[in-house]
Amino acid sequence: MPRHPPPPFDAWACLQAFNETALANLDPQGWGECLRAQRLAALMDVAQRKSPLYRRRWGRARTLADLEPVTRLELMQGFDDWATDRAITLDAASAFIADESAVGDAWLGRYLVWTSSGTSGERGVFVQDAASLAAYDAIDTLRLRGTAAMGLWGMGRSFAYVGATGGHFAGIATIERLRRLACTPWSPRLRVLPVTTPLPELAEALQAASPQVLVTYPSCALALAALQAAGDLHLRLDELWLGGEQLSPAQRQTLGGCFACPVRSNYGASECYAMACECRAGYLHLNHDWVILETLDAHGHPVPAGEVAHTVALTNLANRTQPLLRYVLTDSVRYLPEACVCGNRFPAIEVQGRADDTLTLPAGGGRRAVLLPLALETAIEEGSGVTQFQLVQRADETTLELRLASGADASAAFTGAAAALVALLRRHGVTGAHIVQGDLGPQVDAISGKTRRVLAAAGPPPPPPARAAARRRPRSPA
Ligand SMILES: [Zn+2]
Repeated sequence: MPRHPPPPFDAWACLQAFNETALANLDPQGWGECLRAQRLAALMDVAQRKSPLYRRRWGRARTLADLEPVTRLELMQGFDDWATDRAITLDAASAFIADESAVGDAWLGRYLVWTSSGTSGERGVFVQDAASLAAYDAIDTLRLRGTAAMGLWGMGRSFAYVGATGGHFAGIATIERLRRLACTPWSPRLRVLPVTTPLPELAEALQAASPQVLVTYPSCALALAALQAAGDLHLRLDELWLGGEQLSPAQRQTLGGCFACPVRSNYGASECYAMACECRAGYLHLNHDWVILETLDAHGHPVPAGEVAHTVALTNLANRTQPLLRYVLTDSVRYLPEACVCGNRFPAIEVQGRADDTLTLPAGGGRRAVLLPLALETAIEEGSGVTQFQLVQRADETTLELRLASGADASAAFTGAAAALVALLRRHGVTGAHIVQGDLGPQVDAISGKTRRVLAAAGPPPPPPARAAARRRPRSPA
């Protein structure tokens, strides 16, 4: 099927973003603060003038802190009034993203559009303009990857991406865009594999592709690391790029040891693809020239550095086409009260993000199948259309209890989700599992205050033995 081109490369936006990001790298407090103030003023101006939704919300607000935080549900309900380009409507965007073959194509001739996976309950549709894409590229190149030899888009290298496919998700849309823009004889070789692939097949495909850089989620990397440690996989990676889920210091140590390569991770979201980059000390440094993250308590009041926030309010300074000002993210974030030992002067944060379990189930012949949380979540979402759920593995290991948020069509949603789960389990060689509907809805974790979507019977499987030492934490693949 003929494909449409990706969003056109905007050389001026790219040059500007790279220059400014490099300047802020040299002087985060001077140039960084100056650029942040300029960008915030421009964003507030365009949002008030050209976004009917934000104009209504602004009311008597004078500063950013006066603006009431906004939720994804509110933005999606007011979608047609949200953007500063009146051609951006939910009907038009929905028609575009219904076509899975259009991932990475330009929408309306100039935008990249992606959808969130629905982890916070409501699916979001996010439109990226040339300036925001250039900012993400600049941050990625000048702060996260950091290896000059890598070149702008990994020319001449081989990559493997294991992630959510089959939809316009941020990771695969970004990968597709970059792959098609860098279409030269020196273009990076890229193998894309769905995260729903059974682990043995996935390992075989990766071994055949023999990538130099693997881009995936921590849970997937850990499952592959167990195979590598057991001698069943022999990847020779130059780098491992991670995101999308929380990574503990112990998990990072395991991965660094098993693959004997640098582990690079970041903190991003569909709402802002590059919020923070991990340093060599294992902390995340906020790209505060491009992003404002306010830590708030349960009543919306500021939380001082050193304390964990209940929610954070995100302001994305890179995107003036679909403005995000004081957007509520439910991640728990803590600013480090002191300077980071690595010497990076961008503010250091810690993030408690997604932390779901990987399930293992008996698969016959003494084998155990490994089910990654994202594969299970994708099956449930696609089978039921429901995004608020919790899957709990009971103590017998073969009974999976699906808890759905209350709703009129809970029975139909359960039937659809159960069928999708059974099909997924069969693909992984599991035939003796039972899916039962829970009497309760999703339960909030007493310690974190968050709802974990996949819970293993006895916690996550033990990590494979580490062969070397490494460091700490992160989030968002590619
Ligand atoms: Zn640091």
